[in-house]
Amino acid sequence: MKKYIYFFGNKIADGNSSMSPLLGGKGANLAEMVLMGFNVPAGFTITTEVCIHHIEHNKQYPENMREQLDIALKEVEKTMGKKFGDTSNPLLLSVRSGARASMPGMMDTILNLGLNDKTAEGMVKLTGDARFVYDSYRRFVMMYAEVAMGIKGENKNHSPFDEIIEKKKKSFGITKDTEFTAEQLKEMVKEFKECVKKYGKVDFPENPVDQLFGAIEAVFASWNNERAIIYRQMNNIPDNWGTAVNVQAMVFGNAGEDSGTGVAFTRDPANGDNIFYGEYLFNAQGEDVVAGTRTPLKIEELQKQDPDIYKQLEENRHLLEQRYKDMMDIEFTVEKRKLWMLQARIGKRTAMASIKIAVEMVKEGLITKEDALLRVNAEQLNQLLRPIFHQDDKKKAIKNGKLIATGLNAGPGAASGQLALSAEEAEKLHAQGKKVIIARIETSPEDIRGLRVADGILTARGGMTSHAALVARQMGKVCVAGCESLDIDYDNGIIKVNGKVVLKEEDFLSLDGSTGEVILGKLETTQSEVYQVLVSKEIAAKDAVIYPFYAELMSWADQFRKLRIRANADQPDQAAIAIALGAEGIGLCRTEHMFFGDHRIKAMREMILSESDESRKKAITKLLPMQREDFKQIFETMAGRPVIIRTLDPPLHEFLPKDEEDIMVLSRDMNIPIDHIYRKLESLHEANPMLGLRGCRLGILHPEITEMQAQAIFEAACEVKKQGMEVEAEIMIPLVFDVTELKSQKDTIRKVAERVFKEKKIEVHYQVGTMIELPRAALLAGEIAEEAEFFSFGTNDLTQTTFGLSRDDAGEFLNLYLENKIIEQNPFKTLDQKGVGKLIQMATLAGKKTRPDMQVGICGEHGGDPQSVYFCHKNGLNYVSCSPFRVPIARLAAAQATLKDR
Ligand code: ADP
Ligand code: MG
Ligand code: MG
Repeated sequence: MKKYIYFFGNKIADGNSSMSPLLGGKGANLAEMVLMGFNVPAGFTITTEVCIHHIEHNKQYPENMREQLDIALKEVEKTMGKKFGDTSNPLLLSVRSGARASMPGMMDTILNLGLNDKTAEGMVKLTGDARFVYDSYRRFVMMYAEVAMGIKGENKNHSPFDEIIEKKKKSFGITKDTEFTAEQLKEMVKEFKECVKKYGKVDFPENPVDQLFGAIEAVFASWNNERAIIYRQMNNIPDNWGTAVNVQAMVFGNAGEDSGTGVAFTRDPANGDNIFYGEYLFNAQGEDVVAGTRTPLKIEELQKQDPDIYKQLEENRHLLEQRYKDMMDIEFTVEKRKLWMLQARIGKRTAMASIKIAVEMVKEGLITKEDALLRVNAEQLNQLLRPIFHQDDKKKAIKNGKLIATGLNAGPGAASGQLALSAEEAEKLHAQGKKVIIARIETSPEDIRGLRVADGILTARGGMTSHAALVARQMGKVCVAGCESLDIDYDNGIIKVNGKVVLKEEDFLSLDGSTGEVILGKLETTQSEVYQVLVSKEIAAKDAVIYPFYAELMSWADQFRKLRIRANADQPDQAAIAIALGAEGIGLCRTEHMFFGDHRIKAMREMILSESDESRKKAITKLLPMQREDFKQIFETMAGRPVIIRTLDPPLHEFLPKDEEDIMVLSRDMNIPIDHIYRKLESLHEANPMLGLRGCRLGILHPEITEMQAQAIFEAACEVKKQGMEVEAEIMIPLVFDVTELKSQKDTIRKVAERVFKEKKIEVHYQVGTMIELPRAALLAGEIAEEAEFFSFGTNDLTQTTFGLSRDDAGEFLNLYLENKIIEQNPFKTLDQKGVGKLIQMATLAGKKTRPDMQVGICGEHGGDPQSVYFCHKNGLNYVSCSPFRVPIARLAAAQATLKDR
């Protein structure tokens, strides 16, 4: 018989931590904590298979599942010494979702299930604490109504239940939930149920078994709610994993001042410090800490008030890290001075924390270097290179009274933008190309669309472990949480501090997520610590905080990786940044970017529009020294590292004058009549420039362009070599579809090389290779390699030409394709391994067959995308080339590729 229900409790568990595909992360880790000997309230896990079955079979459960559930429930009753639905000693349950991958706040939990008017009275008799019982009861009715029944009020910004609570607080003149009397809470339960009837048109279910199955179904249904689907899309989680359901005996953190609830991280999730980092609320239940309805105390407060419990927690912290060998995120509840563990999972962290924890755990002997490398998310490294506020600018703003509030530094970094108070407003501003700071009283998963487009997130309530903080850290967003002095008024679109309006929607404000400061207006940003150590050299390595950990990890990455990393850099300053960040060469230097400067564009235009060889030569003589100087500087910067220079590639019309004034200037400078220029412009017009006169076609039509470029390259190389520096020049011919094209260009280049070397009386080593960016070139790669001394896959164009899809025109329907899953991933971001990848594979094999020692790499946007890097490693490429700022990401991704491949 197939097992659908896994019991845990009282030192026995059917599952363990390795079973998360079946039991979900939460269920697997609850079982593991039982096996580790922790106090965990007894319960059982309904498997993810049941969820998928339930979705696929029109809400039917698999055969036998009900029977297994009944048996497990009896076992829970036995363990806890209470009975579900019993009127004198009732067992209450929590029903919790738990998917395979942690999806914070995505699926909803229902607490205190099993309460009705009779069981509540029974509990009052049993505990003698009516306030506690009715507090639990009103929480249950609210949660069940919202989560399982989907009850919503008239105002979409406020839950109707919260409105009742707020109204009551006002009329009783109290501020905290804990101040309600038992009678008042009992009355609240009644009003809540009336509210259910009013908005839901049904009665609240009184029968505990109906409640239980209603809750289970709600969890299954929530797998397909909008926010869960968006979350899965954003994090590449397959739709067919399903969620498990955990049904567990309740323990009560709201049973008095000797009770409470908390969440903690075994290390600091923001900066990685090895300290116990947590938050706690006395006399509170469940989501109070996470939801941010009350801002919690630091865990040290618990240490003062209940040192015993704190000591047990510290012990558990240690045991968990030893067991999981990672930083853990835990939830726990104290009921009348007894500690119960409710959840453990691998903790989410910032890039900074991730690096520090990984490196320190290697030093502590918990993990190996390989583990450490695999553990840091390569993409997240970009957080370490993100700008921070300019300190002087910030100080000045603060001195001028612009600091309006300080909250918790929940997501490091600096963000300036315009205020939005709702997800819709945030999306609207974002669509207008504006930077957005979203401010919410507290965030809930419904806000996710807004959080996604925002640069910064600000909340008035909630701690470091609140939903907003978790999501911000994961998305790498700047976040200031729990800024209690802010009075956010959704209805009027304003924020007040001390009764005074300080911000309206669309006003500028700045968040410092590293210090928690909220500042009016726009602030200048400056570079991050890693950037200042490595690139601008403003900070000495020894004075840096996170840099030493970063440097250590990157040195390990360099030990393991097989791929070499180059950068796409067109100018000497970019080349310098690339080297500082670890690039070993330039994989793509686009010469056309050199032509856009003021003087240069004029000379370029003259060259293109020249009607005689003579005037063309004149224009070229103007361009030559400028190009030579550019190449010289690049060769000097690269100091002997290889540099791939691509000959002119874009359609000529990109350089041509568009407005009348420019055309007039040109006509005067070149001394040709205006109508000649217009005629020439017309003749250069193309219906489809991307597939027109561009790439090597230009150099074949106008060999003098290639000649000029080659001359500039070789003269620069010779000069640099004469100064005693090595030069490794690799000239790359773009958009080749046949070996004959390459041969023709190569001959032109060879001739120039010979001439220059003779003149300069010195020779430099160089190669001529080609870009593979047309399917025909990939198909004929074996032949092309007879002339090409190296290949570089230009994956941007290769993707366009393989798909027959122009990237610049694809925006709208590509999004539609992605949303409807017609394609899985954006092929311009992550390499299409199935199609484009197949061409790369073939061409690499064929090229290396002809020329075994040939160097092959890629130089599209994909060069800095971890998944694409893995593909390049797997398929025997020699290097990837990416933008300078993605070099660290590519280095780490390349090391991870080697390790994953073992
Ligand atoms: P999430 O995945 O959003 O963290 P959880 O299932 O962990 O959802 O539960 C939400 C809150 O309810 C947490 O604070 C958790 O500690 C609390 N909780 C869950 N189960 C129980 C229980 N059996 N007894 C007491 N509190 C519980
Ligand atoms: Mg939840
Ligand atoms: Mg939880």
